Amino acid sequence: MTEYAAPLDDIRFALRHVAGFDALAKLPGYEEATPDVLDHILEEAGKFAAEVVGPLNRIGDEEGSRLENGVVRTPAGFKDAYKSFVAGGWNSVPFAPEYGGQGLPWTLNAAVVEMWDAANTAWALCPMLTVGAVEALSAHGTPEQQRLYLPKLVSGEWTGTMNLTEPQAGSDVGALRSRAVRVPDARGVPDARGGDKYRVFGQKIFITYGDHDYTDNVVHLVLARIEGAPQGVKGISLFLVPKVLVSQDGSLGPRNDVRPVSLEHKLGIHGSPTCVMAFGENEGALGTLIGRENDGMACMFTMMNNARFNVGMLGLGTAERAWQQARAFAKERVQGRDIATGENNVAIIRHPDVRRMLLSMKSSTEAMRALAYYQASRFDIAKRHPEDAARKHAQATADLLTPVMKAWCTDTGCEVAHTGVQVHGGMGFIEETGAAQHMRDARIHPIYEGTNGIQANDLMGRKVQRDGGEEAKAFIGEMRPAAAELAAASDADLAAIGKKLADGLDCLGQATGWIVDGGKRDIRVAAAGAVPYLTLFGNVTAGWLMGREALAAAKASANGNARFYEAKRKTARFFADHVLVRSRGLLATVADGADAVVALADDQF
Ligand SMILES: Cc1cc2nc3c(=O)[nH]c(=O)nc-3n(C[C@H](O)[C@H](O)[C@H](O)COP(=O)(O)OP(=O)(O)OC[C@H]3O[C@@H](n4cnc5c(N)ncnc54)[C@H](O)[C@@H]3O)c2cc1C
Repeated sequence: MTEYAAPLDDIRFALRHVAGFDALAKLPGYEEATPDVLDHILEEAGKFAAEVVGPLNRIGDEEGSRLENGVVRTPAGFKDAYKSFVAGGWNSVPFAPEYGGQGLPWTLNAAVVEMWDAANTAWALCPMLTVGAVEALSAHGTPEQQRLYLPKLVSGEWTGTMNLTEPQAGSDVGALRSRAVRVPDARGVPDARGGDKYRVFGQKIFITYGDHDYTDNVVHLVLARIEGAPQGVKGISLFLVPKVLVSQDGSLGPRNDVRPVSLEHKLGIHGSPTCVMAFGENEGALGTLIGRENDGMACMFTMMNNARFNVGMLGLGTAERAWQQARAFAKERVQGRDIATGENNVAIIRHPDVRRMLLSMKSSTEAMRALAYYQASRFDIAKRHPEDAARKHAQATADLLTPVMKAWCTDTGCEVAHTGVQVHGGMGFIEETGAAQHMRDARIHPIYEGTNGIQANDLMGRKVQRDGGEEAKAFIGEMRPAAAELAAASDADLAAIGKKLADGLDCLGQATGWIVDGGKRDIRVAAAGAVPYLTLFGNVTAGWLMGREALAAAKASANGNARFYEAKRKTARFFADHVLVRSRGLLATVADGADAVVALADDQF
């Protein structure tokens, strides 16, 4: 397996030209994010990812996590790497200083997280879930919950989990059966603080890092129904259930009534323990309510939106790793002759089709990075901009793009990893090279955190149909000036990108109108087009950002690093020629592709 090396040039370029990092660093509260700090953090994160986290990727795949005497043991080296990660302060980069965080921009954190994800996806999942728990508790926790739990979660001394799924409740979270019973008199109950204290009963499945050997405590965020609450999503509440009970002074007390029952055997991410968790096999797992009773889905959405962004990041991370591996292999593997010069025994990178595959991997990965950092920059503006209108606007864009970020980056991540296997030929199918691991690891990302079909429904319904397509159309309008600037350029690459981007924007505009109007006529028809619509949305948005990068590269090419800038421009051109050009086909599928889907009866399938 090729060792991971952080692609710092492209990371810096995307931070500057897509995320507008210089402007973000001027937002109130981000004064610490100076260019020197940024450079230092990126360099050090790159080293930590390459030297500590990355080398464990293969070990994690081969060894996997295991359950021994009721305790989850992670693969050799995972725990030590996590301890070094926490000691290095990497867990706390974006969090609020009042809880021990470093208060640095989320966009910078995204760049750092990309490195963990690429170096070792299975290992990176644990801190990823903690981020979601911190966000949910920061937004909805009681002052007491925040005081007791946030500093430990921010530092990484404890980790967080997300417990939604049950055997009968996957995409349909409202079908969950876990229940919570209010403790009538909480005095004398360990960890009691009076009031809203509950005992939680139920079984959750597929819980990522539901248990592990990294830390003394695990903070479970659990969805359950309080006895007597309405059925469906309206009757769900969110509970904080620690693995080990916590006293008023923050010290650890007795073990709570929660345990991992078994671990799943999986296609990929073997290092990450995927647990079946039993809550309340005895007296009931003690938990406290987060937010209000029956308001659990709203609270959980804070966590899920964060997690959806971060799962999109995993798509980017696995793609980057697969791309690095394929590039190295293509430069080493000797096979055949150069079709133009006739030279024999050339490395396969000389064959046009291999170059096509490599460029499709490179351009898609850079496009994902651009989309991810752009999205992260919207979070920073939404949190920190001094003007209300700017904050609202950034939040609206972030909301619109959340399902696109999750689904487009994870679908594209799978395609890239798949192409990586193809570049290796037969050796791609043999585990020894490591190419197959990236493909297996990437395959979960379109499934968890809301399948990509559910993301497409979210884009179609909540994000587009609900406001009659207004936000989507406004966003399309924001992308048009770059298309016009590109199309008017004298440079042939830029002009070609501009033409294809303008056409892609037209297609996206028409498809948006169709999703709104078609949905009014027959919701089944619109729903059948939701995934192609999301793909079109992702392709065009990423094509826009790649076009902006090409413009920036063209302007910067006089200032040194000319080969990087030329590669950037050509890579953006490739993306336009191979991905943006699919826009017309996708529009046709959105508009006309539902016929058979709706026409056939179940028994005709
Ligand atoms: C390795 C792994 C780790 C996980 N980690 C966690 C975790 O930490 N916490 C947690 O709570 N869960 C976790 N999950 C669960 C994961 O989020 C669910 O598997 C996922 O949400 C899908 O649910 P399901 O498996 O029940 O599939 P189903 O909901 O049964 O879906 C099956 C198929 O039907 C489609 N479908 C279902 N409903 C609809 C609909 N309304 N419209 C259109 N299509 C639909 C889906 O898109 C999918 O293609 C994990 C799962 C795995 C495999």
